[in-house]
Amino acid sequence: MIFTWGPTYRIKTVRNGEADEHTELMLEQHRPIQSVDGEIGDGRDNHRPMLNAPGGNAEILLHSCCAPCAGDVMNEIRRSGITYTILFYNPNIHPRKEYELRKEENKRYADKLNAPFVDLDYDRENWFQRTNGYEMEPERGYRCTLCFDMRFERTALYAKENGFKVFTSTLGTSRWKNMEQINGCGVRAAAQYKNLTYWTHNWRKGGGANRMIDISKNEAFYQQEYCGCAFSLRDTNKHRLATGRNPIRLGVKYYSRDT
Ligand code: SF4
Repeated sequence: MIFTWGPTYRIKTVRNGEADEHTELMLEQHRPIQSVDGEIGDGRDNHRPMLNAPGGNAEILLHSCCAPCAGDVMNEIRRSGITYTILFYNPNIHPRKEYELRKEENKRYADKLNAPFVDLDYDRENWFQRTNGYEMEPERGYRCTLCFDMRFERTALYAKENGFKVFTSTLGTSRWKNMEQINGCGVRAAAQYKNLTYWTHNWRKGGGANRMIDISKNEAFYQQEYCGCAFSLRDTNKHRLATGRNPIRLGVKYYSRDT
């Protein structure tokens, strides 16, 4: 298991009307970036209500699937003064090249925000075993329930082992996902441990879906063109070929302000 903490956090203070930025070594956690006018986050729109994690917890574990889905969630959590650690555990992503692309892009943005990033194993053999027999399920079908269960069970275990009382996920950010299905899996995983809660917040609402695109374009994130597993790649390519499009080429499409 590779275990990576973000190395530093930045602090901005105002002395005699002038902003002074300095960097300190991060020992256990990062802190929100406080800007000169009192905003917490990355400086985008700060007029939305602050978020409250379950139980008023000021620290959470954030399971993340990719940079585009995570960008606004990270900003929203930080803007609300909640400390978070990102957990990247997505053994569903296939092939390995695509897995590394999504992970590195997510880590790049975490490093930019000085957010701790935990990189767990790519145990894809377990994933294939777990979904064995459900290869032909459509997206949002039972294979996806198994896929979410596996990722959330590992996340819940990590949360319990590392003292987190709340975890949530970026998985519901995409409009292609079923929030009820994701929340059901999250709540079920959390219920395996005492005093652990899955935060069922809908990150798409309140402008989240638009901000997700906005941030992805600003950051020129890698733009994946299928959900993630070998079967979703197969089905997406099948659909593309049936509609006269070329098959997906991995690693070539990035969000841009021009598109
Ligand atoms: S389609 Fe997406 S959510 Fe469903 S099993 Fe494949 S990777 Fe998991």
